[in-house]
Amino acid sequence: MLTSRRSLNDLLAELPSHDFDTLRPHLRTIELNFGQALIEAGAPVKQVVFPHGGIVSTLEILRRGELIETGVIGRGGVVGSGAAVYDVVSPSAAIVRFPGTASVIEAGQFRNLMDISTALRAAVMRDLWMRSVRAEQTAACNAAHSAEQRLCRRLLQSRALSGSDTMLLSQDLMAQMLGVKRNTISLIAHALQQKGAIRYSRGRMAIIDPDALARRSCECHVADGLARPLASPWIGVPPRRAPEFSVQRSPS
Ligand SMILES: [Zn+2]
Repeated sequence: MLTSRRSLNDLLAELPSHDFDTLRPHLRTIELNFGQALIEAGAPVKQVVFPHGGIVSTLEILRRGELIETGVIGRGGVVGSGAAVYDVVSPSAAIVRFPGTASVIEAGQFRNLMDISTALRAAVMRDLWMRSVRAEQTAACNAAHSAEQRLCRRLLQSRALSGSDTMLLSQDLMAQMLGVKRNTISLIAHALQQKGAIRYSRGRMAIIDPDALARRSCECHVADGLARPLASPWIGVPPRRAPEFSVQRSPS
């Protein structure tokens, strides 16, 4: 059971006190260890996870066994909420990519509390919507931007979510992140190291010059809103203004 709201997941920390107090007896704290599977693809979701830090990747598993990262969740989000709400199996897996801690709640209890707490329901629905917006942005990014631009963007995103300049990141993992061949990653990582943007050795990545990565990243880096504080609930997805349309009247 939690004893403090300090260092919590942003979504939990922003709940009104009454709603958090209802949730609190059902939460327990766990360690998130590198490579730990929080959700298995095709299996029922047993618990809903609110990371306090670290990075959790959602992964699609293709027929030939290839893993492709489809999203990342940090302390601003929640893992497993969609499948838990609808009591269905999860189509994707969720794996810890950067260690941290998290609050977890049993899926059935989470469903019950979603019926009781309007604030929890609103916060979870907002998180699901934000993930949908991020997925749309990434679909456009994958279609339009180069592997090097996308890798720079993803390294900056990982840096913002983890709050760390160093991370365990094998070339296989980077290939999963971008959905490209390992050789492609090898060439890009070598070029970025030559330019002094990163230092890379035996699966350990150090970001040396984030500004250089930002210059080589695609425009999606700006849309990620990575300049915002880590505690912002909008991390990864800044609210956007609706485009302004001018209406041309036909001559009467
Ligand atoms: Zn992009």
